[in-house]
Amino acid sequence: MKQNPQTFLHVDMDAFFASVEQRDHPELRGKPVVVGAAADQRGVVAAASYEARKYGIHSAMPSRIAKQKCPHAVFVSNNMANYKAVSREIMRIFESYTPHVMPLSIDEAFLDVTGARHLFGDGKTMAEKIRNHIREQTQLTASVGVAPNMFLAKLASDMNKPDGLTVVPFNQEAIEKMLAPMPIGRMWGVGKVTQKKLLSLGISTIGDLQNFDFQRLEKVLGPKSAYGFSRLCRGIDDRKIGTGADEKSISNETTFRHDITDREQIEATYKRLIDKVAARLRKAGFYATTVHLRLRWSDFTTITRQTKIAIPANDDITLREVGMELLNEHLRHRPVRLIGFGTSGLTESDKPRTLQMNLFDSPDTARHEKRNRLSRAADAIREKYGISSLRRGSDLD
Ligand SMILES: [Mg+2]
Repeated sequence: MKQNPQTFLHVDMDAFFASVEQRDHPELRGKPVVVGAAADQRGVVAAASYEARKYGIHSAMPSRIAKQKCPHAVFVSNNMANYKAVSREIMRIFESYTPHVMPLSIDEAFLDVTGARHLFGDGKTMAEKIRNHIREQTQLTASVGVAPNMFLAKLASDMNKPDGLTVVPFNQEAIEKMLAPMPIGRMWGVGKVTQKKLLSLGISTIGDLQNFDFQRLEKVLGPKSAYGFSRLCRGIDDRKIGTGADEKSISNETTFRHDITDREQIEATYKRLIDKVAARLRKAGFYATTVHLRLRWSDFTTITRQTKIAIPANDDITLREVGMELLNEHLRHRPVRLIGFGTSGLTESDKPRTLQMNLFDSPDTARHEKRNRLSRAADAIREKYGISSLRRGSDLD
């Protein structure tokens, strides 16, 4: 039988925190268990057992509401150290099958198992082995999606939860048919703003997008997004799991002592991270072409988002501008546990490789030069008087 070019698994533990509690406390088994803040406290649900989900309880819901929905639910406080230990055990299981593991959060990961097929069998066989391995070693269940790429694997792992195994047909026509009825919000990169734009065009399912006129889509979303979405709606996704070893990057992150919801406080911390990263870039003589935002919510789910910079930069102003754009787009009204800022695609020159020569004379370039001078002056002052001697106006108000 012909082997497909790539095989990815997405492994997602079922109601992870709640399942760990039920495993460790047999008296909780079969009961609606809510992990998170107690019902009489301000705070939210970090995880709900499947018994609790039947009452409409889900993570990020205020505990108070959860209690209203299911008065006899058992509230258990977070035992993060324990969940982390179990998580490490599970990640080690993954690594015994393939070195290409990309954790998405404490309880889920992508595995590129393409190179492991000759050892462990095809994607489905390997998914069953991993599920059994996890069950035997941890007494927990996982749902797995098997697919030719990451986007489809992640969709698939969710299709037969809990304790499910879903193999996406490795066939273009069947893939498009499977995606067609799904709501457009299930597609990667479709946030609230994009969803609204698409809805205004009459696109509510992935199938609607498959049939939509590409040129009209380009006018509304711009060429880059339109191209990406037109591929994704057909199940095409070329991303790879890198080992990361040769990827140069500079980043910095902070874990808050308490989960933070105050936007100003989050922004102030984030701006300080950006300035530190920018200073490190300048010191190392690098310019960044990509910036990254990392956010971890109080329930431990983590997102990483990135965007490209038109002209490679290492000055505070540009990095703050681009960084804040990312933050504004992705910050939600949810408590934040960790925030990070990073840069990659580092170059030793700030001259864009792909742009035309006449761009160097544009006002954009003049502004760019001015920003570089300002940042170098700021570095000189910091060097002399210490890092906190220089803050931008916005930090002070
Ligand atoms: Mg999960």
